Amino acid sequence: MIQIRGVRKSFGAQLVLDGVDLDIPQGAVVSIIGPSGSGKSTLLRVIDYLESADEGTIDFGQGAISLASAQPKDIFSIRSRIGFVFQNYNLFLNKTALDNVSLGLVHAKGKSRKEAERIALDELKRVGMQDFADRYPSKLSGGQQQRIAIARAIALEPELLVLDEPTSALDPEMVDEVLAVIKSLADSGTTMLMVTHEMRFARNASDHVVFFEHGNIVEQGSPERIFNHPTESRTARFLSSIH
Ligand code: ATP
Ligand code: MG
Repeated sequence: MIQIRGVRKSFGAQLVLDGVDLDIPQGAVVSIIGPSGSGKSTLLRVIDYLESADEGTIDFGQGAISLASAQPKDIFSIRSRIGFVFQNYNLFLNKTALDNVSLGLVHAKGKSRKEAERIALDELKRVGMQDFADRYPSKLSGGQQQRIAIARAIALEPELLVLDEPTSALDPEMVDEVLAVIKSLADSGTTMLMVTHEMRFARNASDHVVFFEHGNIVEQGSPERIFNHPTESRTARFLSSIH
């Protein structure tokens, strides 16, 4: 179980995360849904130390790590456990698909270049991109780039894969190929925390759904319960506004 506790964050006078507590069971897919500006991306970013929190901890089962200390050892400890997939892929544009996936294995995991490329090819296969290993991102579709970004993240064998709206920058015809990759990772037991606007996917692929508003969790539960029987009127209102 990954335990996130007491995460607070303000930007200037604006409180964006208001003491968030969240549990992510091992092997589970936890999806966060909620209105624009509610703090969903900020939560994911502070969990990966892309942004420092004002308060809060994350515990991967070996003791709480501060999300607010900004100590190199805490940042390193967290980054080595979390893989992050961004809305806009964030691939290295001057590197091939293979290099995008293999470089982290060399630099972060100390693999030899040869071993890193072998692993990278396997990961590219897993996302159906093995035939594009030598391509540069500019010669790939958005869906293909996102699949490479996912391969790059999982190649490092993170304890938690975090995805922030992984399909929202994609043309509609490319959404399904990326969702299929995420679903296959879910089925193979990858622990994931995902923000998504794809309600059908959140419902079908998640073990647990969190409705987030104004910097905190309003309610959470099984997809069946949240989508069919929300207990909070704010959740019901949000769901009816997007159908
Ligand atoms: P969306 O669904 O549109 O992606 P979100 O729930 O991910 O929204 P966040 O991006 O976390 O929302 O933003 C929450 C609030 O924090 C917003 O009011 C936003 O303007 C503000 N915010 C986010 N990042 C910064 C920043 N770096 N500096 C100042 N304000 C920020
Ligand atoms: Mg966001």
